[in-house]
Amino acid sequence: MSFALILLCTSFHGLFSQIHQNRPVFMNITETHQLLKAMSFAADKHRFQTRKDSAGTPYINHPINVALTLMEVGKEYDTELLVAAVLHDTIEDTATLPEEILKSFGKNVLDIVMEVTDDKNLPREERKRLQVIYASKKSTSAKKLKLADKICNVTDIIHHPPGNWTIERRLDYLTWAEQVLQGLKGSNPMLEDRLAAIIREGRAKFEVQFS
Ligand code: ZN
Repeated sequence: MSFALILLCTSFHGLFSQIHQNRPVFMNITETHQLLKAMSFAADKHRFQTRKDSAGTPYINHPINVALTLMEVGKEYDTELLVAAVLHDTIEDTATLPEEILKSFGKNVLDIVMEVTDDKNLPREERKRLQVIYASKKSTSAKKLKLADKICNVTDIIHHPPGNWTIERRLDYLTWAEQVLQGLKGSNPMLEDRLAAIIREGRAKFEVQFS
């Protein structure tokens, strides 16, 4: 094992022990490898993409933050869920084929990714409408991932918004995120509470500016 890999494993071990205070949680070498492989895969697929914020943040920051939110806020440590979080936008936003994820990460990961993948052939408003309708019908894993995704997106809308978004459009986004949240309830109360709190924070901030 290389020195760098030992360092990474040690830091993952430390991170997990630190986060999960009630009982020790360990990620073994195979799981650590899967997570790093997913980060490398997603970084490669998203390599020419940036977020919509004015700073042009590299896109890969977003899926990594979604996985981190699942761990830090949701106390979720299932490796397949974390791997799916890292990969969650590859099929929707890049030329990645489902078969690639199946081959490298297995059917369970692919199933979660497909559940949170919108059909980009549909108009944006229709995709948003379908997210509200189908949120409650998702698997528990997909609901958790969607909650973490929304937490990251709403946080970005509040603190690092796309340059051309008006306050009204940002308020509309919060209203929509709230509707999706209603359908995602029952999967992870910590993620649900955090999303509700961030929506409230955004609304308080934007409504002052809008009035
Ligand atoms: Zn996302």
